[in-house]
Amino acid sequence: MSQAENRPSNFIRQIIDADLASGKHEQVHTRFPPEPNGHLHIGHAKSICLNFGLAQDYQGTCNLRFDDTNPEKEEQEFVDGIKSNIHWLGFEWDGEVRHSSDYFDRLHGYAVELIEKGLAYVCELSSDEIREYRGNLKEPGRNSPYRERSVEENLELFAKMKAGEIAEGKACLRAKIDMASSFMCMRDPVIYRIKFAEHHQTGNRWCIYPMYDFTHCISDAIEGISHSLCTLEFQDNRRLYDWVLDNISIECHPRQYEFSRLNLEYTVMSKRKLTQLVSEDLVEGWDDPRMPTISGMRRRGYPAASIRDFCQRIGVTKQENTIEMSLLEACVRDELNHNAPRAMSVLEPVRIVIENYDQDKVEMLTAPNHPSNEAMGSREIPFTREIFIDRADFREEANKKYKRLVLNKEVRLRYGYVVKATRVDKNEAGEIETIYCEYDPQTLGQDPADGRKVKGVIHWVSASHGVPAEIRSYDRLFKVPNPAAEDDFKTCMNPESLVLHPHAVVEPMLAEATPEQAYQFEREGYFCRDNKHLDRLVFNRTVGLRDSWAKVENKG
Ligand code: ATP
Ligand code: MG
Repeated sequence: MSQAENRPSNFIRQIIDADLASGKHEQVHTRFPPEPNGHLHIGHAKSICLNFGLAQDYQGTCNLRFDDTNPEKEEQEFVDGIKSNIHWLGFEWDGEVRHSSDYFDRLHGYAVELIEKGLAYVCELSSDEIREYRGNLKEPGRNSPYRERSVEENLELFAKMKAGEIAEGKACLRAKIDMASSFMCMRDPVIYRIKFAEHHQTGNRWCIYPMYDFTHCISDAIEGISHSLCTLEFQDNRRLYDWVLDNISIECHPRQYEFSRLNLEYTVMSKRKLTQLVSEDLVEGWDDPRMPTISGMRRRGYPAASIRDFCQRIGVTKQENTIEMSLLEACVRDELNHNAPRAMSVLEPVRIVIENYDQDKVEMLTAPNHPSNEAMGSREIPFTREIFIDRADFREEANKKYKRLVLNKEVRLRYGYVVKATRVDKNEAGEIETIYCEYDPQTLGQDPADGRKVKGVIHWVSASHGVPAEIRSYDRLFKVPNPAAEDDFKTCMNPESLVLHPHAVVEPMLAEATPEQAYQFEREGYFCRDNKHLDRLVFNRTVGLRDSWAKVENKG
C-alpha cells in the first residue's frame, strides 16, 4: 500500500483504511459506471481517476460497467469512445467490460422476488398521475389505487408486461415503500417500465427495462463492489439503494459514498448541453478542442498525465465548488514545460530580407530541444537570406519597452544573429510586405564586439525552408464563468473561441510531427499536431505560455 501513502488522503480513503483495518473488507473493488449516451468529459475524468486510482493504490480492482438501461439513447459509438478515453487516461479495467444489461435476467428475478414478498406492484397510473400522486417536499404522496393488488395479480401483470402484451406507458412496476417518506425517491419509485426499443446489447429480447436506482445497487452487489462511489445528487437515493439490497436475496451489500461533482468555469458539463453543441454544429464535434470532453482535450494536446494531476490537485470532498480553468491549464503547462520539445513557428508571417547575407547560403544553426534537459538533444535549423518573423514582432516606431524589431534598431534572432532593420516595403493598403535588414556576422552565439546592448530576442523561420501550416488558437468556449446559469447557455458563447492562422510557417522538422505530439513553439505557447485533419499540417494551440487571463506581457 505504499502508493496510497504517497497520496493526499480524503474522506473516502479514510473510510477504506478503516474498512481494511477492521477486516470489513479485504480487497478494494470499485467500478466506473458510465451511461453510454454521450462522450466522457473532464467531470467523468474525476470519477475515473478516483475509482481506478483507488483500485491501483490499494492493489484492488476496478470494473468498467456500462449503465445501459436506456435502450433508445445509447449508441455503440459512445461505448467505443468511452473505452478508448479510459485507456488513454492510463487506466485498465478488471476483466471483461460489464454491462447492466448482462444482469437483465437476474434483475428480473429480483423484481419477481419483490412482488412475491408483497414489496412491488404493477401500477396503471399514467406518468403524469404518478407525479401528481407523489406529492412534494411539503405534502406527503397518496397511495396508488393499484397498490393493494394481490401478489398473484401482480405476478400475472408483470409477466404480461414482459411478454409485450401491455402498451408502453400503460403500466409499470413500482416498489412498495412509503408514500409519506421525507425522501421523494422512497415514494414507491418505479423500478421497471415498458419500452419497445431495440437495445444495443440485448436486441429485441426485452420490452421491459429496469430503472437506474433498481439496477445500479444490484449490479454493484453482483460484481462484489466494496465501495460504490457516486456524485452528491445521489445522496437521497442511497436510501433506495439500501432498501433494494436489504429486501432481495443477495449476499453482498456494497456501501454507497457520495462526493461532490467537478464543475469547471467557462464551460458546460452536462451531456445534454454538450450534445446540443454538437448536434447544432456550434462546435466541430465531441472532440472539438474547445470541448471539455476527454477526446477534445486530447485533441487539443492536454497530456493524460496533466488531467490525472489535475484530478489529484482538486481532491475529493463533499463540498460543492467550481474550479477555475486556470488550475487545469496550470497542470497542462507544468507537464508540457517538462516534456515538450521546443520549436519555432510564425503564426502571422511577414518577410524579412537580410540584404548583406549571401543569396544562396544556407547555414545550419544548432538549437537545443529543451533549455534545461540536455537529454532531449538538439536539432539544426536552416538560416537563410529570407526569413519570416511574426507581424507583431516589428514596429516602425516604438518606445524602449518594446523589445522586438524596430526600424533602425537591432534585435537578436533566436539561436542566430543580431539583425538591424533598415527600411520597409508596403503594399497599396499601407501594410508592410517586406522588412529589409542587415545582419552582424560576428554575433552568432555572442554579443556584439563593441559592447552594443541588444536586449530583444525574436523567433523566426526560414522563408525558403520553412513549411506552411494552419494553426488554430483556442480560447474559452463561453464568455461567462457559469454558462449553465444563463437562460440559454448558447447565447453566451465566445465568438473568439477559435482564431485561425491559415498562413503560418513552421520550422522544417515539424513537417514530420506526429498527431498529438506536443511542442512548445517558442514565445507562442504549447501546440500539437491535430489528430483529425491529417491531409495537411494543422497545429492546435494547447495552452499559452502564461495564464492568458492575467496577461502581463509588455505591449510597448
Ligand atoms: P452528465 O450529468 O454529464 O450527463 P452523468 O452523471 O449522467 O453525467 P454518467 O455516465 O452517469 O453521466 O456518469 C458516470 C459516472 O461519472 C457517475 O458515477 C457520475 O457520478 C460521474 N460523474 C459524472 N459527471 C461528473 C462530474 N462532473 N464530476 C464527477 N463525477 C462525475
Ligand atoms: Mg447519470
